[in-house]
Amino acid sequence: MDHTGHHAVVTGGGTGIGLGIALGLADLGAHVTITGRDKDRLAAVASQHPRLHPLQMDVAHETSVRDGIQQASELRGPVAICVANAGIAEPAAFRHETLAHWRATMATNLDGVFLTFQAALATLDRDAWGRMIAISSIAGLRGLKGASTYTASKHGVIGLVRALSEEYLGSQTTFNAVCPGYVDTAIVERNAAQISESSGMSAADARGLLARGNRHKRLLDTDEVTATALWLCSSAARSVNGQAIQIAGGQVS
Ligand code: NAP
Repeated sequence: MDHTGHHAVVTGGGTGIGLGIALGLADLGAHVTITGRDKDRLAAVASQHPRLHPLQMDVAHETSVRDGIQQASELRGPVAICVANAGIAEPAAFRHETLAHWRATMATNLDGVFLTFQAALATLDRDAWGRMIAISSIAGLRGLKGASTYTASKHGVIGLVRALSEEYLGSQTTFNAVCPGYVDTAIVERNAAQISESSGMSAADARGLLARGNRHKRLLDTDEVTATALWLCSSAARSVNGQAIQIAGGQVS
């Protein structure tokens, strides 16, 4: 679990799940490029750890990702660890869904993983050691009511990871998806506020509703997701490849 000398990129690394993973990798010695759109927030977060490096990068835009990851690799080396975590979750009933919102969600949640992995892999030799991790969701494994677009995007992420694990079979690079249930981050806060606004229930009750969406009826802490990602980056997990790992308090599919 010593990542001294490794360069990691964590998209959406300035908040929530991504920040937890970025700090975990930095504590293990890696130099971690954390990306997002909010430059000031990234700079403030990076100032807290000497091995966190901020990079403004929009995962939905090809040039931003390709140029950003290339620049980061010129500064800190090939991207041996890549955590494609950036994502948005804006539930909408299917009959009210718009093509524009569908495309915006796919651009971030699915194109974003495609662009990030492709740019990271371009910095690595074909037989190099690598860990490519995508943060999917329980919505990547089963349908979530009222979140058809998000569900489709997260299913797509798992399909991409499974295909890449086959394409790179025999190399030292593994590809896995992590599938958390509801985690106590800004996404859950925003979703609880939205439920509260549309239903009239209190924000606390809305949070409780989401917590009950997990099999063990509580919100996950980010450190539970971090621990799984760090294990996937370890030597012990070198034969774990093409998997969609559930962290949801129980079986979801
Ligand atoms: P979060 O704090 O809102 O994190 C989302 C991150 O993605 C932010 O740092 C945001 O940074 C970044 N981001 C969004 N759009 C982006 C874009 N176009 N380009 C670059 N960065 C972008 O929420 P979170 O819960 O940690 O979510 C992280 C991932 O976990 C997401 O993929 C989410 O779907 C997944 N997940 C979350 C839960 C949950 O219950 N919280 C459950 C399962 C899966 P900027 O705003 O600076 O761009």
